[in-house]
Amino acid sequence: MTRIFPPYAYGDGPRTGCWWDETVDAIEHPQLLDSIKCDVVIVGGGFTGLSAAYSLARAGASVVVLEAEHVGWGASGRNGGFCCLGGGMAPDAVLDHRYGRAGRGAWRSTEAAAVHYVSDLAETLGLDLQLHSDGETCLAHSEKTMRAFEAEADRIQENYGVTAEVLGASDLAAAGMSGPFFGALSVPIGFGLNPARLVRGLRDAAISAGARIFDQSAVTEISGNQVRTSQGQVAAERIIIATNGYSNEDIPAWMAAKYMPAQSTVLVTRPISPEERDRAGWTTDRMVYDSRNLLHYFRVLPDGRFLFGMRGGLMSAPAVEARARARVERDFRLMFPDWADVAVTHSWSGMVCLARNMVPFIGPLPGQPHILAGFAYHGNGVAMGTYAGKMLADLALGQTPDLYPQAVRDAARAFPLGTWRRAAMWPIYGALHLQDRWS
Ligand SMILES: Cc1cc2nc3c(=O)[nH]c(=O)nc-3n(C[C@H](O)[C@H](O)[C@H](O)COP(=O)(O)OP(=O)(O)OC[C@H]3O[C@@H](n4cnc5c(N)ncnc54)[C@H](O)[C@@H]3O)c2cc1C
Repeated sequence: MTRIFPPYAYGDGPRTGCWWDETVDAIEHPQLLDSIKCDVVIVGGGFTGLSAAYSLARAGASVVVLEAEHVGWGASGRNGGFCCLGGGMAPDAVLDHRYGRAGRGAWRSTEAAAVHYVSDLAETLGLDLQLHSDGETCLAHSEKTMRAFEAEADRIQENYGVTAEVLGASDLAAAGMSGPFFGALSVPIGFGLNPARLVRGLRDAAISAGARIFDQSAVTEISGNQVRTSQGQVAAERIIIATNGYSNEDIPAWMAAKYMPAQSTVLVTRPISPEERDRAGWTTDRMVYDSRNLLHYFRVLPDGRFLFGMRGGLMSAPAVEARARARVERDFRLMFPDWADVAVTHSWSGMVCLARNMVPFIGPLPGQPHILAGFAYHGNGVAMGTYAGKMLADLALGQTPDLYPQAVRDAARAFPLGTWRRAAMWPIYGALHLQDRWS
């Protein structure tokens, strides 16, 4: 198995200290030790794989999920819990050029449908996901981005059919969002959730519907309709690859260079009292991110803890991880100086996944229609990964998903430099960082 980050990225080091692990009981599944058959075998037990498993099993298919570690071990069990629009990074102009305005509209509708799908699922399955925050707010980190917010609000109206609210710098204190910001743009779509509970809810629903899940069962080879692990194998009509940022170059070989993992790092503080929140002028329960390219995302959790995350990171090693955690804490302290005495109790990192064409890929592999894949949600896979699982299930059943925009059907293109492709990202990340500093 060839992977493009150093082995440390795929071990427990970056995951150690994840707050969400303390909010759900650990659950284990057996290892695959046999030769078995099923209709659909799914590689990867995160939102994408578990959601696909649930939909398929519910439709009567026999389903097996093979997870290298344990369900939710990847990004799904360690993200910020922003269930929000996104999934791609392609701007409107690029989408218009590629797919036309109608094609752009189809993709934007899919983003919104993904968010609604998660809330509907929570209701249907009776999941307590510790939901909060009615919508999502972007805070301007510069005057230039603030000036662009009016046009951005028009764009949001056109793309999602909702009215975004623009607040100037002087309105932020009254909105409970004091800080070094130049204004805000609030979109009434999205909510915060406990991602470990979503993992657990999808897992329970998939099992109840009849899916079989195996932990510690890394797929080491795909050959025709056979999927092999070190101790067993599965023969299936269809194979779904749901490995996102933890993908490798050989499972299957088509994946080589088509995905770009990148790290994101999060911290969680001890509970912050209402008085401490008043003192800092941060009384909103909105989930928020700033307008930087390498953005910060943050929100108060329902128990008063503060979650603060940061994108960026193309290296992985113990010392690099320590630096990433120190950097995220430094930025948290700079942004919230009134909480200098608030202890950071948890921090961790994980891999998101980018695509060269800046939109996810969801569908059958070119020339191998029995293998389907869903990946590259660009750091926004809580909603889109869960919805992609549903789309993949429909496709595996021979049905066309309700929404299936051209944007996600186009075959992912390979990044240059093959297994060295992280090197191509360094100058891009450097430029983004400089742009953030000087914009
Ligand atoms: C720190 C962080 C913060 C984030 N914050 C947010 C957020 O707030 N909002 C949002 O929308 N998104 C966020 N994301 C992104 C989001 O978590 C992901 O897009 C989403 O979880 C992807 O789900 P997935 O099921 O496709 O992949 P994953 O959850 O990564 O699951 C892939 C699984 O595949 C398994 N696997 C890999 N190879 C094999 C193999 N050969 N055999 C068997 N199993 C294998 C892995 O062990 C892993 O468990 C964040 C990500 C990170 C890392």
